[in-house]
Amino acid sequence: MVTLITKTLDLEAHRKTVKGPVGFVPTMGNLHAGHISLLEEALKSYSTVYFSIFVNPKQFGVNDDFNRYPRTLENDIELIKKTLLKYPHAQVIVYSPSSPEEVFPPGSNFSLSVDTLSTVLEGKLRPGHFDGVATVVYRLFDLTKPEKAYFGLKDFQQYLVIKQMVKDLALPIEVIGMPTVREESGLALSSRNQYLSSEQKEAASFISRTLKEIVKILDNKRSNLNLVQNYIQNTLKDSNWNYLELRDADNFSDDLSKSQNVTILAVYQMDSTRLLDNMQVEIK
Ligand code: AMP
Repeated sequence: MVTLITKTLDLEAHRKTVKGPVGFVPTMGNLHAGHISLLEEALKSYSTVYFSIFVNPKQFGVNDDFNRYPRTLENDIELIKKTLLKYPHAQVIVYSPSSPEEVFPPGSNFSLSVDTLSTVLEGKLRPGHFDGVATVVYRLFDLTKPEKAYFGLKDFQQYLVIKQMVKDLALPIEVIGMPTVREESGLALSSRNQYLSSEQKEAASFISRTLKEIVKILDNKRSNLNLVQNYIQNTLKDSNWNYLELRDADNFSDDLSKSQNVTILAVYQMDSTRLLDNMQVEIK
C-alpha cells in the first residue's frame, strides 16, 4: 500500500501509529532505478518504509537549478506502486510536503553546519550545499525516526556527511550506502541526466570510462598512485572537469599514504549540467 502525505502534522500523526522499526529513504523525486534500489533494499528489511520526495531549497545555491529541477510526483508514485507489487504486505508512506514551509515552518531560524567536509570538492564548489543537506536530513530523520536510512554512494561526499552527522550527534540510526546504478553505457543514473541531449548523454558515458581507467591503472597498488596522478593531470586539461580527485574513502583525506579504501571522485560539466560520479578501489 502506498500512502501520500503532504502535511507534516499528518506525517507526525502517522508515525505515532506505526509500531516497530521503520526504514527511510530521502529523495528529491523524479525517481529512477537508482532511487528504487534504495527503496527495494529498505523493503527487504522493513514492512513500513517512509520515502520522502522533497526538492529542498536549502541545498541549492543561487545559481543552482532549483526552479528547473524536475518534479514528477504522479509518475514517482506509480513507480513506487509498481515496486511494491513484489512486497504485497509492505506499506510505503510517501512524504511529499506541499511546500518548503511544511518542512521549515515560517520563522524557523536554525540550520546545521558541516565543518571540514563542506570545504572540499563538492562542498567547496557549492557553498552551503551540505549544510542544507544535513539540515533537511536531520529534520526528516526526526520526523520519521527510522532504524535504518538508505543513501546512494553515487553522492559519496553526501553519504559521508550524513554518516558523520549521525556519529557526531549520536543519532540512533544506521546509514546504509547503496551502490551506484548505471545505464548500460556506464553513465550513473541521475535526475539531472534529462537535462542532456541524446548526444550529450552518449558522450557522458566517458566519465565512468575515465574512472574505470583510473581503477585499472591503480590496479589495487599504492605504488601506482604516481601513475594515476599523471593520468589525472593529463585528463584535467579538459577544463569541463570541475574536479577529478582521489580521496581516502573513510576519512576523505587527500593523504593516501595509509589508505586502504580510495574513492575516485569526479564532476564533469556539460553545458550547465554537472554530472557526478565516483568509484571505490581498495589499495595495498
Ligand atoms: P536525489 O533524489 O538525487 O537527492 O537522490 C536521492 C538518493 O538517491 C540519494 O541518496 C542518492 O545518492 C541516491 N541516488 C541517486 N542516484 C543514484 C544512482 N544512480 N544509484 C544509486 N543511488 C542513487
